[in-house]
Amino acid sequence: MVDVILKKGKEKAVLQRHPWVFSGAVERIKGKPADGYIIRLIDAKGGFMAYGFYNGQSRVAVRLLEWDEQVTVDEAWFRAKVATAVNARKELLADGSTNTCRLIFSEADYLPGLIVDKYADHLAVQVLTSGIDNNMPVIIDELQKLLSPASIFDKSDASSRGHEGLTTENKLLAGTHPPELVEVKENNITYGINIAEGQKSGFYCDQRDNRRILAHYTKGKKMLDCFSYTGGFTLNSLSNGAASVTSVDSSALAIDTLNENIRLNNFDNSKHSAIKADVNSQLRRFKDEGEKFDVIVLDPPKYAPSRSALDRASRAYKDLNRIAMLLLNEGGLLATFSCSGAMDLETFKQVLAWAALDAGKQVQFIYQFCQPEDHPVRSSFPEGEYLKGLLCRVL
Ligand code: SAH
Repeated sequence: MVDVILKKGKEKAVLQRHPWVFSGAVERIKGKPADGYIIRLIDAKGGFMAYGFYNGQSRVAVRLLEWDEQVTVDEAWFRAKVATAVNARKELLADGSTNTCRLIFSEADYLPGLIVDKYADHLAVQVLTSGIDNNMPVIIDELQKLLSPASIFDKSDASSRGHEGLTTENKLLAGTHPPELVEVKENNITYGINIAEGQKSGFYCDQRDNRRILAHYTKGKKMLDCFSYTGGFTLNSLSNGAASVTSVDSSALAIDTLNENIRLNNFDNSKHSAIKADVNSQLRRFKDEGEKFDVIVLDPPKYAPSRSALDRASRAYKDLNRIAMLLLNEGGLLATFSCSGAMDLETFKQVLAWAALDAGKQVQFIYQFCQPEDHPVRSSFPEGEYLKGLLCRVL
């Protein structure tokens, strides 16, 4: 096994079990490990620190897996990690109201670079590191042993794959090809999931709890669901008696699937309209037309992919929220989200305070949304916490 020697003074994060070693923290490498191979991380005095995946192309040169020198990171090690993660989702799926969730969440489940989402009997995987890529045969075999899925589909089209020298994949790994729309249930609502063509692995299951919680506030209300995708917030609110919901998304496929989801649930079509448009332009159009709402959801894509993008992203979040505040009836509710890991909750609150000032409104934060249990945050990896939201009463 190849030894990667850490620079003096860089031990702290490793000792605290943070799973990343940046290339700048590496003193030297004894040998030439291929990308994705398992190496031993050694401190400046020659002592063992941890085992991890090496990648010479990535800014994160080593992704740490195991801190106990006596434990071998072999097939059995990967099988155990997969089984532990899958078992940890049992309670979430137990009552049958939901049969879709994230089964494996990368670093948070001690498998850096592996995402596995369950869509009823089908699985969608994203492989974001060469280390996981090398070990996929055993991971697939273990998933089959544990779950006997109808299919396992590789949906590794994330841009981050390029950083590890991997190419985009969109292909069947096992079983028979999933239907164009896989039917799943979440909070007792039916969705059609297009695994091969949809965004990410097909669905944003990280908003499951937040959709249900918000629906509680929408009975009899006129709601606007911005960045609706296939209608997670829309459908939960219609199911809970919203008076009407307008959904806006720029993706034609998202809107088509949302309309199909309305049909699948037999919801009253006259209470729902879907608009394919850019949210920023549509909000301005509503303002010009004097249209107002009781509840507005803002669930935009990640505006800040990194810390360096935070200033620009903050201005974009502020502008978006400012205009939404202007479209609310007196005392209306704004459910506003950020899935940018670089934007923490305090900064997000600050952005909303600026938006309120500019809009000439007062805001009360009445609830804090977060990511659900199948997207755990590992205490030694705070970077895994990315989804936050605030329910605001706007006066
Ligand atoms: N709220 C959704 C998830 C939103 S993901 C749910 O509960 O499932 C972000 C969505 O924003 C995607 O569907 C994407 O198509 C859409 N989007 C991105 N930029 C947009 C823009 N400028 N205007 C409208 N929609 C946009």
